[in-house]
Amino acid sequence: MEINLDKFRGSCACGRLHSLEVKRVCIQKGAINLLPAYVESSKEGEYPVVICDTNTYKAAGEKVFEFITNENKTLIVLPAESLHADEQGIKKIREIIRPKASLLLAVGAGTIHDLTRYTAKEKRIPFIAVPTAASVDGFVSTVAAMTMGGLKVTYPAVSPLAVFADTDIFIDAPYRLTASGVADLLGKYTALLDWQTAHLITGEYICEKVAAIELEAVQKVAESIEGIRQGEAAALENLMYAQILSGLAMQMVGNSRPASGAEHHLSHLWEMHVINPETEALHGEKVGVALAIVCDTYKKFLEYEIAAEPIYKGLPHGYLKEYFKGMYPSILEENMPDLLDEIDFKKLYEQFGKIKALIAALPSGEEIRGVLNAVGAKTTMKEIGLSDGIIYQSILLSPFVRRRLTLMRILNTLLNSEVF
Ligand SMILES: [Zn+2]
Ligand SMILES: [Zn+2]
Repeated sequence: MEINLDKFRGSCACGRLHSLEVKRVCIQKGAINLLPAYVESSKEGEYPVVICDTNTYKAAGEKVFEFITNENKTLIVLPAESLHADEQGIKKIREIIRPKASLLLAVGAGTIHDLTRYTAKEKRIPFIAVPTAASVDGFVSTVAAMTMGGLKVTYPAVSPLAVFADTDIFIDAPYRLTASGVADLLGKYTALLDWQTAHLITGEYICEKVAAIELEAVQKVAESIEGIRQGEAAALENLMYAQILSGLAMQMVGNSRPASGAEHHLSHLWEMHVINPETEALHGEKVGVALAIVCDTYKKFLEYEIAAEPIYKGLPHGYLKEYFKGMYPSILEENMPDLLDEIDFKKLYEQFGKIKALIAALPSGEEIRGVLNAVGAKTTMKEIGLSDGIIYQSILLSPFVRRRLTLMRILNTLLNSEVF
């Protein structure tokens, strides 16, 4: 199916004119058959470069490369083992890519897409997405999630011009990637709550249409769990569609606010290896486990009464310094100006009832673990190579990895730590 992108563009009740960078999205069996004609007709298609890794080369890269008729085509196959969206990955591409490259084709999952998107931005050329697994919602993202100098950084990058998601390819993805994709998508539950909370307290911009699109994406996946587990084509197409929807939602507002909140902050913190050893867990696996922890934490506040005038003592420099060590200056820079300085505490007090209603509507941590379990995704810290002993520290530190207001950030600095 071709997604009708007109539904997502144009003027909106939120007061903005939503625009999309992606021009075409096709999710269907045999979608890659449409690629050669697309590349040929593209004005940038003169020097196409296919970027994949040793695994996705076999899954689709080889075929895509053969399909492309242009004689100037080149192929970059990165070693799949320990390939990350970091300086090393970028360096490898820089070393091989020909200077004349005019169009990139990312054939792979999240890492290949982040590396390609970063390179496309650097070289100021467009790229086309060919996802080989429905493992993340970042295929049409406009930012590249990279790890640079050990820090998890989001770089402004570019959206693909077009997405060709071929069911015959992503149906054969390693199941672990698919399950991880479901977990990443379920993360929208708390991402949305955080967005709505920030809107209630600070009046931060929100678009109800975009929030509804994210909710539709989560619901679509929640309904398809059984079919996804069975490897049914229609259910997997639903998952891919939901991932793309989430990406479109981000394009509509120009950032990842609709799709990333406290659950992603926990995952980012773990990727920085500040309080934990390196883990080979996938992005969505970490987000899924984090989501259940965030739901557990938020639910605790249902019984809590906030003081009318909470005293905010400023950034917790002591423990930020203690844990982030060498990264402390960058963390400080990220958090300036302090988000909580912008909060009107009277407003927080007034809105706490509404925030509680949002929390009440959130699934519980147990419910989330139930769904993750049903789809065969990871549910415990141990399964993602981490210890339960760092949960408390994760809750304390994670809101500082990004300057984005979440309920976690508000609660953990304002309220008595005994609540956690
Ligand atoms: Zn809107
Ligand atoms: Zn994610």
